[in-house]
Amino acid sequence: MDFDDIRDWQGTAESLSEELQRKIEQLSLSVETPTVRVIRSWRSRKLLSQPKGQKFGFRQILEGLATLLLLQKGWTLVAIAQVLSSWNDTELEQQIIAGKDGGNIIESNDNQESSSFLKQKSKNNHNLAEDAVILLAQGILRQYECMVKGGEIVRQDDKLPPELHSAMCKLGRLYLEEGKCDRAACVHDVLERSRYPLDDNDGNNKWDLSIFRDSEFRLGNVNLIDFNLRVPTADCAETANMSGGFGEDNVIEHRLYSKLKSATEGLGRNKKDRAYTALRELIGRRSLIRQRELFNYLEDKNLTPLQKTVEEFFDRVPEVWLIDGHALQCAHCGTLMRPHPNRERYRDGYYCPIRQCSGRYPPQVKERLSPENGQLLVAKPQILVYWTAPAIDELAIFDEAKKYGLDTQLYPESDQCDIAISDRAIGIDAKSYRSPVLLALKLNRSIGGLISYHQRIVAITDELIEDYPDYISTVNSLLDKKSNIANLQIMSVSSVIKNIQEGKYAS
Ligand SMILES: [Zn+2]
Repeated sequence: MDFDDIRDWQGTAESLSEELQRKIEQLSLSVETPTVRVIRSWRSRKLLSQPKGQKFGFRQILEGLATLLLLQKGWTLVAIAQVLSSWNDTELEQQIIAGKDGGNIIESNDNQESSSFLKQKSKNNHNLAEDAVILLAQGILRQYECMVKGGEIVRQDDKLPPELHSAMCKLGRLYLEEGKCDRAACVHDVLERSRYPLDDNDGNNKWDLSIFRDSEFRLGNVNLIDFNLRVPTADCAETANMSGGFGEDNVIEHRLYSKLKSATEGLGRNKKDRAYTALRELIGRRSLIRQRELFNYLEDKNLTPLQKTVEEFFDRVPEVWLIDGHALQCAHCGTLMRPHPNRERYRDGYYCPIRQCSGRYPPQVKERLSPENGQLLVAKPQILVYWTAPAIDELAIFDEAKKYGLDTQLYPESDQCDIAISDRAIGIDAKSYRSPVLLALKLNRSIGGLISYHQRIVAITDELIEDYPDYISTVNSLLDKKSNIANLQIMSVSSVIKNIQEGKYAS
């Protein structure tokens, strides 16, 4: 191999210069040998990675050669320093070999062999971009947890979660490599940008990283923070978990679920499942509710012992969200509509904050509720994101099944699945992950309670399929061929509803 003779090499700046010259000649690289002074300046600019006071080694020969080749291609020292640290020794060796004989190491050309450097670099960048996104997702979740626990505000100091810090460094490198200025240096900017999809497919062009729009980049359509409700999305939770070892499947949803489960468990075996369903249905249908109505509902369902827990799922409607002194209830999902200053986009000055609802229907008011007729409550943002929003699809399927006289259950056995038809014959889970890749990864890890059903259906929000026509085929192509996953049926919510109407699920 080209480098086997120097793997154990060690030496001073002077001997590194000599060694580089020897290698340049041996590999016939068309670059000039750096002087000792240049080598020292590279060290102080961190292009050569060995700590001060220690001898140079094999790694620095590779770094030196790669630096010379990249400089020749017009790279700046700053950009080179960023990219070198993302390559391990083997990768560096490959880059140098690809660049020898004066080969074109960065720009692709007609020569297959010399474009291997470009391919390798693009692969490395995909890995770097994926690492950056995973760390960002983990950092966002940690930050969110700190805020929920301690009400702390985001400050760019040493309290920043380390994942967020690493993510910002890696994102910065991606910007530099694309020849753009580092737009990841401010945590507030990065978090604000995380409310937009990575691939900028909403036309806002917030991220402006072409690697995120590359069709080969598998996390492109991820959106990490819910745009309106500013809570980490299910995609964020799933992304954070991609590298494994981040703990719970989905920390937010898991926490909510445990809270509800432990509250209903106290009611005893017979009542707990019915209580679970009643509360989830309440949150799905009535995320805006008068306190009095909430208490009545609990009383009707014999759930008064749970009143304290359930109250924790709601906030009082703040005055700033009233419009002309009234709380406006969304005609489609029933939640509280919010004022919006952009009158061009929202003619009447309000919108529904639930993306799955406002993405489908224009703003429309069902009822104007006056706070004078009793305390008004609205579900907390994380409840809206994790329970109310998905309930739009879940309830649409459930209501249709009921309408067609099927024996159907919502959230049976404390959430074995979303909708069961004919007991264990059919189990349906509605999913609204923006990223088909993340959904497939999640299903490969576990299909959860669906496993107890004979026919297992995963129903995808129609809007997602409209946005990404390959959504279902992408999920299918990534699913393991294990038997319990292989017979999953992935289809749109509207196809499930159509099947119900056509009597395909009748027993
Ligand atoms: Zn709505």
